[in-house]
Amino acid sequence: MKTILILLLLQISVFTFGQTTKIAENLYSYTKPIQSADQHCTPEIKFDPLIHENIAGPYDGGNLQFIWPFTQAIDDGIVLVNYVDNRSGTGIKDYNDDNWAYDGHNGTDFSLHDFRNMDRFYAVKAAASGTVVQTVMNNYDRNTGWTDVDPANKILIRHDDGSYAYYYHLMKRSVTVKLGEYVTQGRIIGYVGSSGVSSDAHLHFEPGHFVNGNWTKRDPWSGIYNQLPSLWDDQLPYLGFRDFVLHDMGVYTAGLVGGSFNNNMSPYLKERIISPNTISGYESKIGFWMLIQGNYSTKQIKLEMRNSNGTLIDDVSYTNYNQFQYGWQWWTPDFNPGISVTGNWYFRVLYDNVEKGRYFFNVQLLTSNRPRLYPAAGKCFRRSVFLQRDTLRVRPVRTNMQYELVGAPPNVSITNDSIVNIGTLDQIFRVREFKVIASMGGSASLRDTMIYKLIDTTKNHSIGNGIVSLELKSYLEGRYNGINMQGDSITVLLRNALSPYVIIDQATVYSLPNGSSIANFHDANSGIYNYLVVKHRSSIETWSKTAMQFPNGFPLKYDFTDANTKAYGNNLKLKGGEYCIYSGDVNQDGVVDVIDVASVDNDLSFFIQGYVVTDLDGDDFVDSADLAIVENNANNFVVRMRP
Ligand SMILES: [Zn+2]
Repeated sequence: MKTILILLLLQISVFTFGQTTKIAENLYSYTKPIQSADQHCTPEIKFDPLIHENIAGPYDGGNLQFIWPFTQAIDDGIVLVNYVDNRSGTGIKDYNDDNWAYDGHNGTDFSLHDFRNMDRFYAVKAAASGTVVQTVMNNYDRNTGWTDVDPANKILIRHDDGSYAYYYHLMKRSVTVKLGEYVTQGRIIGYVGSSGVSSDAHLHFEPGHFVNGNWTKRDPWSGIYNQLPSLWDDQLPYLGFRDFVLHDMGVYTAGLVGGSFNNNMSPYLKERIISPNTISGYESKIGFWMLIQGNYSTKQIKLEMRNSNGTLIDDVSYTNYNQFQYGWQWWTPDFNPGISVTGNWYFRVLYDNVEKGRYFFNVQLLTSNRPRLYPAAGKCFRRSVFLQRDTLRVRPVRTNMQYELVGAPPNVSITNDSIVNIGTLDQIFRVREFKVIASMGGSASLRDTMIYKLIDTTKNHSIGNGIVSLELKSYLEGRYNGINMQGDSITVLLRNALSPYVIIDQATVYSLPNGSSIANFHDANSGIYNYLVVKHRSSIETWSKTAMQFPNGFPLKYDFTDANTKAYGNNLKLKGGEYCIYSGDVNQDGVVDVIDVASVDNDLSFFIQGYVVTDLDGDDFVDSADLAIVENNANNFVVRMRP
């Protein structure tokens, strides 16, 4: 069952939903609609003497050195979809003498993949230092169109040289700076949203200045069609007309897109369809989507579906000759293999016969989907004297949902199972994050996470530029019985990668019986390397093998239990097939020795009970089992190992 089609996208358009086009059998494409010259993602900028100042005389902005205005790098969830159109009148010319823009576009548009990424908070940084002269922050932020919308949430910063930069389309209530405040370059000023005239979550970044009361945009990118100096301290290479870029992909069933593969797909794709946990071999069709960008220039794109034995089940291919600034393509082949071949099937994406990606999905008897917080999984709340509330909603509707607060401050609680109450903010730094994990009966896989940002502009900015999260797995030797663990509090430290390994931040968290814990760090930066150090009141301090980098926008997962090489110096003990942190350092001096043995022995002789430091196995009795653990580790000269 092979379908091979070679065609010109512009010539064949047999099936459309808005901008959806059928390009081959069961294969569809959705691109950003083409904007006409009178449709802009930002309003015309008019001079307001209360806010704006003119610059007298010639100005080329050459003293500005913009930094990249995101925590994440290009292609790390961020796609450059429009440059500045430098051509006056009709027609498009970006700085590179190409047309990676729309007609009359005055800024640079950086788009997030989807609203799911928006909910994971993409921070916007001040590209240059300056004074905040305008903020708008309360408008709806999940627009997907250009008509009948509220204005954009935005920030206007006046630079030291008298020029300005606009940051448009921010998330509702996410502006983290105050009017009149001087912000230094690199400071987080808000989060990417889709407020105002906006089809996708994106930042429109527009520098410029006023001359005689007229706004003059300034294209920061320097090239053939803009010979003014670049305003970037490190201008990226030209990002239009690259070869095929596969940004993201996944699989889905009809149930995840409203029950039918024939529905308008763009709302689902823009929210990112979350792949099912398992897919039934009796689904009659299956869907595969991919988010792509680039210029195909006559090369072939091929999609394959293979079963868990690697056998090719179906494929489709096509060639197109268009630029594809940003969008999705999806394929809905017939499925229904039954359950004769279960396990990990996969889709393969090939461009010009080179594999660009592979997406695995698990085929079983029944389809199961994880719950999903709806309609958003990320929100900002600002300081208020009133109690603020938010109701958690999950789709599909489940009966056995559990909601757990993670890293929440004391003024936050959950009542009536699903209402988040946020009292008057009392926090050290301006932005604080907490999460709610919604799970089906506590399941580790059937769950979703809601992120809240609490913004209190009466407080200072944190020294870090956001929050990083660690999803840790670790077992404590004494408390682990080979199946699960007596949970206990542990302290996780982040320490600088270089001597003297300064402590950057620390969090005390509860380690669950399955060894998992989540620690949020407010003073750490993503992208920076830190050692992870686990401390427990009666265990050997244990360091990660190497310094670890927190990814941008997502938690770092670190598992100390699956290999002894995960710990510095391989300093873990194998017990019941899992690697555990050594127990027995009762006095926390970094060595398990006769002093620790003596204190356990002493408490044992007095039949000490309860939550005491010498009860190494957590059964609330100090007994011979505890003594055996500490004696064994003392005999083996167990010590802390660290760089
Ligand atoms: Zn724009």
